[in-house]
Amino acid sequence: MMKVNLPSSSRSSDLPIVIAGGGIAGLSAALALGLKGFPVQLLEQADQIGAIGYGVQMGPNVIPMLKALGIEQAVLDASYFPPEVDLLDAYTAETLTHLPVKSAAYQARFQGHPYLAIHRVDLHEVLLKACEQLPHVHLNQSTLVVDYEQEGSHVEVKGSEGQVFKASALLAADGLRSKLRAKMHPGDAPRESGYVAHRALIPMSELPHALSARAGVSMWTGEGFHVIYYPLRQASVLNVVLVVKLPQGIQEVSDQAYAEHIELIKSQVSAPARLAMGLVDLKRRWSIADREPIRHWSDKRVTLVGDSAHATLQSFAQGACMAMEDSVVLAELLDQAQGDIEGAFKRFEQKRFLRTARVQLQSRALWEDFHCSGALAQVRTARFTERTSEDFFRCLDWLWTPIDASSQGRED
Ligand SMILES: Cc1cc2nc3c(=O)[nH]c(=O)nc-3n(C[C@H](O)[C@H](O)[C@H](O)COP(=O)(O)OP(=O)(O)OC[C@H]3O[C@@H](n4cnc5c(N)ncnc54)[C@H](O)[C@@H]3O)c2cc1C
Repeated sequence: MMKVNLPSSSRSSDLPIVIAGGGIAGLSAALALGLKGFPVQLLEQADQIGAIGYGVQMGPNVIPMLKALGIEQAVLDASYFPPEVDLLDAYTAETLTHLPVKSAAYQARFQGHPYLAIHRVDLHEVLLKACEQLPHVHLNQSTLVVDYEQEGSHVEVKGSEGQVFKASALLAADGLRSKLRAKMHPGDAPRESGYVAHRALIPMSELPHALSARAGVSMWTGEGFHVIYYPLRQASVLNVVLVVKLPQGIQEVSDQAYAEHIELIKSQVSAPARLAMGLVDLKRRWSIADREPIRHWSDKRVTLVGDSAHATLQSFAQGACMAMEDSVVLAELLDQAQGDIEGAFKRFEQKRFLRTARVQLQSRALWEDFHCSGALAQVRTARFTERTSEDFFRCLDWLWTPIDASSQGRED
């Protein structure tokens, strides 16, 4: 239920921290700050927070963040735990990468933290419920933030209907196509990848055996496309995402030529990939884009957080995890800042830049590995298949080893 009361302060500041955007970044930041006692007012443009629901995978690095947010058990209860994450050649069905994410080697390396998949609606519900427990966290829906102005010790956050929200600070959690980032960095725009995603959630009982038989995350990759699927909700549904590079000269997925392009791919790939591709609605699409890494996420009392700061391609399935890490780190820094909000925001971008930029840039390199053809694909296959699972785990150490949430406020 939406609450629109004015926040009451439980810390010395009598102005709330306003958050623009109620996605995973905005909600987890609201929760992290609320748990530290900050008054928070979240403004979401949509009339329902978290209405769009598909699956999201989360690596072991997210588990201590869930713990810090007090939602570890609730998220685990709503999660599915795939036994493996596999990358397969869509044409030959050869396994390129096999990550057994329930194995003893995985458990030992990543401190027993599970690899999980969760329905976004379920994750949002856990975050929302936790926020609603905090009387000084207020969630406003149907509120589009269009601008901000800064005056000395406060920020005026402006809504599209002339509302003005007076805040001690503003977190811009307004996603990949952030209006507030555009204000902070005029001329800086998302980098369009030329790929589009189509998604589907299909009841397991309606699926052919070739799809329902695989319990893990299966990603079939080929020239200019991939299709990925995994079970959710106690394996009662299959989450499917098809990602395709729009061919030259085709702008719209509604074009007949696009349907023919998909049919051509389907005629070339092995049965499970073809069956999975046939499940998505080709008329509905999401354009895939990311952002260039930038060092400056803040403008005095305003900071970017989540995708608005560092949107990435989905190669590592880590955008939501990075948003949760951001939230925990930011709350810790603000908690220890003794009112020095500008200083805390500067430290935030310094602490988070390298890790998030690495996710962005390595995701681009991996994206090429996934979608290349010819000699590049042959070399990719040789590189990937000579590595053991243990080699791949080692390559993921920097990402999957959790940051130490409790030490984030301390100076390095
Ligand atoms: C196909 C696909 C698959 C993905 N899979 C994974 C995965 O498996 N694992 C993973 O960790 N990540 C994954 N991601 C990435 C992940 O979804 C994002 O990184 C994460 O959701 C970012 O959250 P956010 O809150 O920063 O942005 P968003 O989710 O975009 O939320 C922004 C919110 O702000 C609101 N908003 C926007 N502008 C305004 C405004 N001006 N005023 C008020 N409200 C506003 C929007 O309505 C929205 O609710 C995937 C992404 C895609 C596209």
